[in-house]
Amino acid sequence: MIDQLTIDKIRDTAQILDVVSDYVSLRRRGQNYVGLCPFHADKNPSFYVSPSKNICKCFSCNEGGDPIHFIMKHEQIGYLAAIRLLAKKYGIEIKERELTPEEKAAQTAREGMLRLNEFAMQTFENDLFETDEGRNIGLAYFRERGLQDETIKRFHLGYAVEKRTDLAERAIRAGHPRELLLDPTEERKEGVGLCYADNDQQMPQCRFHGRVIFPFMSLSGQPVAFGGRILQRVDHAFKKYVNSPESIIYRKGNMLYGLFQAKADIAKQDKCFIVEGNVDVLSMSQAGFRNVIASAGTALTTNQIHIIQRFTKNVTLMFDGDEAGIRASLKTIDLLLLEDMRVKLLLFPDGDDPDSFCRKHTTEELQQFFAANEQDFIVYKAQMLLRDAGNDPMKRANVVQNIVQSIALISDPISASIYIRTTAQMLNIDEKYLQQALLQAQRTNYANELRRMEIENRRREAENQQNALMQAMQTAAIRHTDAPERNIVRLLVRHGGDLFNYVNRDAGPEAEPQTWRVVDFIGTYLENADIKFQNPLYAKMLRMALIASEDPSVPFDSLKFFTQHADSEVNQTALDLAEDRNEAFGIVELNESLEKDVPRVLLELQDAILRTKIDDLNRQLQAPGSDTIEIMRQLTDCNELKKQIGKELGERIITA
Ligand code: ZN
Repeated sequence: MIDQLTIDKIRDTAQILDVVSDYVSLRRRGQNYVGLCPFHADKNPSFYVSPSKNICKCFSCNEGGDPIHFIMKHEQIGYLAAIRLLAKKYGIEIKERELTPEEKAAQTAREGMLRLNEFAMQTFENDLFETDEGRNIGLAYFRERGLQDETIKRFHLGYAVEKRTDLAERAIRAGHPRELLLDPTEERKEGVGLCYADNDQQMPQCRFHGRVIFPFMSLSGQPVAFGGRILQRVDHAFKKYVNSPESIIYRKGNMLYGLFQAKADIAKQDKCFIVEGNVDVLSMSQAGFRNVIASAGTALTTNQIHIIQRFTKNVTLMFDGDEAGIRASLKTIDLLLLEDMRVKLLLFPDGDDPDSFCRKHTTEELQQFFAANEQDFIVYKAQMLLRDAGNDPMKRANVVQNIVQSIALISDPISASIYIRTTAQMLNIDEKYLQQALLQAQRTNYANELRRMEIENRRREAENQQNALMQAMQTAAIRHTDAPERNIVRLLVRHGGDLFNYVNRDAGPEAEPQTWRVVDFIGTYLENADIKFQNPLYAKMLRMALIASEDPSVPFDSLKFFTQHADSEVNQTALDLAEDRNEAFGIVELNESLEKDVPRVLLELQDAILRTKIDDLNRQLQAPGSDTIEIMRQLTDCNELKKQIGKELGERIITA
């Protein structure tokens, strides 16, 4: 589909720092960069990016790889789709030929859906500028709202023509499967919901016909859904706004409108404006405030907060003139505090929303207005509730409780104590009394209640992952890897900084021995073999050693590093390993000859991984309805590989 030369060019061009920065805000640490891991709920940065090696890795969940692997994993797409995405990012032209039926069948549903949405976005965009209907209706509307062509193009706005079957006819002619155009159903999960059809014979009709189009982009700039706004009719039968249905590429609770266009500015300014509507995003962005996003019509979810957190911890929520919006959002804002975000509010003058206000003022005026009117959330909340309470002592006491509950969500004690002082002054009561109330509130289950909300949000996702987890647990139950992993860590503890000679047998009989540091050799070997430790403690110790020994010019005293480590689980294990205590569970004696021991423990781990896999395959073989031929083929491969490793192990032990 794509020629090898182009693939090589993309491989050479793609820089891991560039690629990961599209999804995570990174900070420099020595030779490397770190940030919050996009693959698990990360509170402390554990995601490392190494520009010199052109790879990334999470030291907590172990996910990572080269730029292509990272894209595949993050976007959940295949190899060629990842290549295509990188080509787009770096402006490398790909000449693609028409897919053969076999290739079409091989492309995953996800990839097909993304390609179809890309096609639809280009069609809508093209029709906005290139058809009379698009110019007279769609473009005229955008211009009337003060949007310049640059903004329209930057956000890939478009127009869906009145003729209902137009999109489907063009998409099918371009080779997209008809059923992908339709809504996903229980039985058929594939489908982006651009169109609907009453029966199998009918040409699908565009859900968005006669509407202006706002594409919703993933973090990598792929359209995953669309929003459409009706212009001409005032008929109540037509909804003013229509959105794509949820699908395997689009979850409403994960989408933030405008984040793809805003993320670089959010990271650079370490701050994010959150508005309510899509058009607010466009106007703010056009006025020069590019770090702006919208939650796309829903209250913020924990998932959305986690995505924002990858780029900044500072958010300013923008509300229309009246306070109703803020009152309705108090719980959501508390959720932001619970996730350690620093929250500010900005209220526009009565009757104005961000869009109308931006259109009335210059960038300088806006800047001044934002600076003068941004308020701390807790301070604002206290003022608002106090105003409501008037002089009623009971109501004022309730206000105190309410504010203290919000402060109790803040995990940073310094910020919390500053808030206590500020609110004590505002409420004109003794700071000590507030301190006490805070302690009490921290003990109440208010935080738990919010956590339950969060858990409820994640429940659906968790259900989907349940099956995969069950499988993983079954595999883990018969784990042969624990002992070899422990042996590798034992060598790391005792000899991590020592040097030894290694002969690479693959390099031929004349190969010269190379001098390696034990820690470097183990790290490189495991990385090359794509092996990840199963035992979380050993995985943690390995990554600690790799980080601590990163600078080769500084001697690495591994024994001291581990046995004096602040983490008691680590130093206890290190002491046990240093003295061979608790070694009753099948640990083979080490020869204490690094030339022999280092390659041996690594081969033993590979051997154990293969044994686990063979066990697993044998179990699958017994399951009813299994693909016997495929499993047998894999078993043969595993046994062959195991034989090779066994042979090498024997040679290593005898000749080293
Ligand atoms: Zn991770």
